[in-house]
Amino acid sequence: MPRFEYAPAPESRAIVDIQPSYGLFIGGEFVDPADGGVMKSVNPASEEVLAEVVEAGPQDVDRAVRTARAAYDGVWGRMPGRDRAKYLFRIARIIAERSRELAVLESLENGKPIRESRDADLPLVAAHFFYYAGWADKLGHAGFGTDPRPLGVAGQVIPWNFPLLMLAWKVAPALACGNTVVLKPAETTPLSALRFAEICQQADLPPGVVNIVTGAGATGAAVVDHPDVDKVAFTGSTEVGKQIARSVAGTRKRVTLELGGKAANIVFDDAAIDQAVEGIVNGIFFNQGHVCCAGSRLLVQESVYDQLLASLKRRMATLRVGDPLDKNTDIGAINSGAQLERIRTLSEIGQQEGAQPWSPPCELPDRGFWFAPTIFTGVTQAHRIAREEIFGPVLSVLTFRTPDEAVAKANNTPYGLSAGIWSEKGSRILSTADKLRAGVVWANTFNKFDPSSPFGGYKESGYGREGGRHGLEAYLA
Ligand code: NDP
Repeated sequence: MPRFEYAPAPESRAIVDIQPSYGLFIGGEFVDPADGGVMKSVNPASEEVLAEVVEAGPQDVDRAVRTARAAYDGVWGRMPGRDRAKYLFRIARIIAERSRELAVLESLENGKPIRESRDADLPLVAAHFFYYAGWADKLGHAGFGTDPRPLGVAGQVIPWNFPLLMLAWKVAPALACGNTVVLKPAETTPLSALRFAEICQQADLPPGVVNIVTGAGATGAAVVDHPDVDKVAFTGSTEVGKQIARSVAGTRKRVTLELGGKAANIVFDDAAIDQAVEGIVNGIFFNQGHVCCAGSRLLVQESVYDQLLASLKRRMATLRVGDPLDKNTDIGAINSGAQLERIRTLSEIGQQEGAQPWSPPCELPDRGFWFAPTIFTGVTQAHRIAREEIFGPVLSVLTFRTPDEAVAKANNTPYGLSAGIWSEKGSRILSTADKLRAGVVWANTFNKFDPSSPFGGYKESGYGREGGRHGLEAYLA
């Protein structure tokens, strides 16, 4: 079949006005730090500095928490749910209205393709606010008693892979339940959270209900450790999740942790192979593989291995890697130099341990952080690339002979966040799903999200659920 060439189709960045520097968002306004330093936000596709932001110090975090407490005691905690709902609906509508601007900003700072920020991230961000706005006046009917109470001040720390979506997952249910928040975005992706702060101003959200403190790990630790925080919500690495669990142990703080994953994507011999290949590609190359629930371990039944691998390679050869703002781009930039280094290191370890890498021919840009889509074959369960979260566009391919072997291999991981099953037989899907120790199991699809559906892990993937009615529980007494 002839291949079509694609002409560049860049989205204009003129819609986003980025200031040279930003303060902290505390008490409804942007303020100068008391003891903070300065850090830079960088476009990972070009290494261009986008803006300077504050690295908040302990005094700044303390001010944010005290402000959130005052807003909780004075306004938000006692406001009727129907009134909180009005603010949340307003925020949701503004997000929908400004979604193009937000999508461009998200792609500029994160490196993800505009097609994904425009068609996946932003619609889901707005949907989360709409969904939880709908719950705000119905909490007495959610199954947590007739008059469930908010917890107070929520300290929330989020990662860089879905900056606005992770913000929405945390802020929307917290506010719907009557809590106020202090949120720390990731060091490499603070700008969309600061844009969200402007949206809170635009929505006339009472000052202090949402506070945003930018910074690095130490700022996150200051939020988590603050004695006047009632609830800690964290998404990020298992390593930091363990530190947080240790630091809040023995305190009154409630905690939800959404941590790493090493999901098995299981393809049985009766699966529709082309459909499965689309799901495999989506499962590992969506968002450059910077996805906690990425299908990073492919388990293929031996009898269809050759056919599936040939088809997967053909499909991978059509993936376009490059400018995140180009609407044709499938795979954008790796979010940071540090993350690129981690992906390279684990890939080299994969080779040293005897697995064979394969990537389609693809030209990577000279500047910025890039990694070609890669699959490793000849992977065994003992290999580090089969056990550790690479968090990049790297797929480890393993095989199995029987359904029992597939389940045993899928569950042979310290994680338990997600899994995928590909089969034409409903009974096989149900019996396999039943045996998988994973919070989410997708059948004949992958990476499907909806605000009404709970999400969370088993084992070292964390505890607590976000999304859906279950997601309310994490923010109610
Ligand atoms: P981290 O877990 O370090 O970062 C997540 C968030 O926590 C960031 O906002 C980070 O700030 C903050 N943070 C860091 N240290 C602390 C601390 N001691 N107390 C409180 N907050 C803290 O992930 P990384 O960005 O360092 O990525 C490392 C690896 O983690 C990745 O390669 C990937 O494997 C995994 N990861 C998994 C994610 C998931 O959703 N499962 C998401 C992100 C990463 P800062 O940004 O300044 O470091």
